[in-house]
Amino acid sequence: MTVKTRFAPSPTGYLHVGGARTALYSWLYAKKHQGDFVLRIEDTDRERSTEESVAAIFEGMEWLMLGHDEGPFYQTQRFDRYKEQIEHLLEEGKAYRCYCSKERLEKLREEQQANKQNIGYDGHCRNLSADEQDTSKPHVIRFKNPLEGKVVFNDLIKGEIAVSNSELDDLIIARTDGTPTYNFTVVVDDLDMGISHVIRGDDHVNNTPRQINMIEALGSEVPKYAHVPMILGEDGKRLSKRHGAVGVMQYRDQGYLPQAVLNYLVRLGWSHGDQEVFSVEEMIEHFDLKDVNRAPSAFNTEKLNWLNQHYMKSLPAEEVLKHLQWHIDQAGLELSQGPDIKKLIPAMAERVKTLKELVLAVQYFYQDYEEFDAKAAKKHLRPVAREPLELAKKKLSEQSEWSAEQLHALVSATAEELELGMGKVGMPLRVAVTGSGMSPDLGITLEWIGKERVIKRIDMALEFIAEREAQS
Ligand code: GLU
Repeated sequence: MTVKTRFAPSPTGYLHVGGARTALYSWLYAKKHQGDFVLRIEDTDRERSTEESVAAIFEGMEWLMLGHDEGPFYQTQRFDRYKEQIEHLLEEGKAYRCYCSKERLEKLREEQQANKQNIGYDGHCRNLSADEQDTSKPHVIRFKNPLEGKVVFNDLIKGEIAVSNSELDDLIIARTDGTPTYNFTVVVDDLDMGISHVIRGDDHVNNTPRQINMIEALGSEVPKYAHVPMILGEDGKRLSKRHGAVGVMQYRDQGYLPQAVLNYLVRLGWSHGDQEVFSVEEMIEHFDLKDVNRAPSAFNTEKLNWLNQHYMKSLPAEEVLKHLQWHIDQAGLELSQGPDIKKLIPAMAERVKTLKELVLAVQYFYQDYEEFDAKAAKKHLRPVAREPLELAKKKLSEQSEWSAEQLHALVSATAEELELGMGKVGMPLRVAVTGSGMSPDLGITLEWIGKERVIKRIDMALEFIAEREAQS
């Protein structure tokens, strides 16, 4: 069997992390089986679907590098086909016109509620003869759901699911204006597109028995189904905006790498032994629907941060840079004004969790600052730091070989000469040249900042100390 999966979002918002995870699982399943992955835009709800949202879905999928093999197909471009299939079911007597008024349906509902019966259409128009019908009157079209028996399917995640047909009413497949309804368009598309495995969120699991009945009525083979449990927030409640970022691109904005988000999402509800880190190739190799958890999974930002840092440190710097660039542009950082960012990336990634923080952390290599971090300055740029800074400055000005090793030795020599511990020289110097207390090894920091800037910044620190002395 050729495997074909699909991701079928309704474009009514951004690409949600839950949707992205479903897309990833579908994509992985297709890739694992050398199959195809179809992208289908379910835009029949014209009031809620927007072009921006379609664009946001494409943007999210592209950012996550989840390319499709077929599509994108748009349901709004397939109305003729849905109509054709509705006609087909009518002709075969597998669907019927229903003329029931709103009032009748409301009354029926009230009665059912009062009698504690299942709510649903009672089949009033199911057996109208041609003579009993005036097709010029407003009507909807309903699918003739089988009256007896049950629908049984083996969900590849949840196991066997059985629903008795007596619980399913005759679903509307075309509205009064002739437009097809959601459950019907999905069925027609899944068949026409040759979908072998429907992998989707478990909010759709209740639709599946109805869809299976329709597929059988259309005379086709039923695809396999896998319903993925939902994602919960850190507090165990269904993930929503309340929890912060839920749109995939918000994660980009916050400084996450797509590699980290993918790795995070794949593990959120799926496991392979106790392995945490997966390259995309490894995901494809090991992914299997049977290892997807049956229970919902809770979001864990700490783990996402950990993975993000892992990928910032371990991916080739060029790859990280591709994604860092967006943040560099946002911050207006001029990379030509400092060292090669590629050598900074792995060194600085040790100290930060996101690309956004990384940009902040490398800023001083490229941009001068007007003020020192208040806390760091208060602690380290004190009058006692004046002498070590002056001596270090003198030595640094005379230093010709500007290498991390030499600069490190120079700092040690300064400390020795003044009979001070390394920290008493190193910390003020670090704050002076970086503006804050955070930097990689001091020798490396000095080397990368460059002689001219280093001297200028020590002067600035000495001025700061002088002012402080004057004030006290
Ligand atoms: N369009 C549906 C949604 O966005 C998905 C339908 C499906 O996967 O069958 O929830």
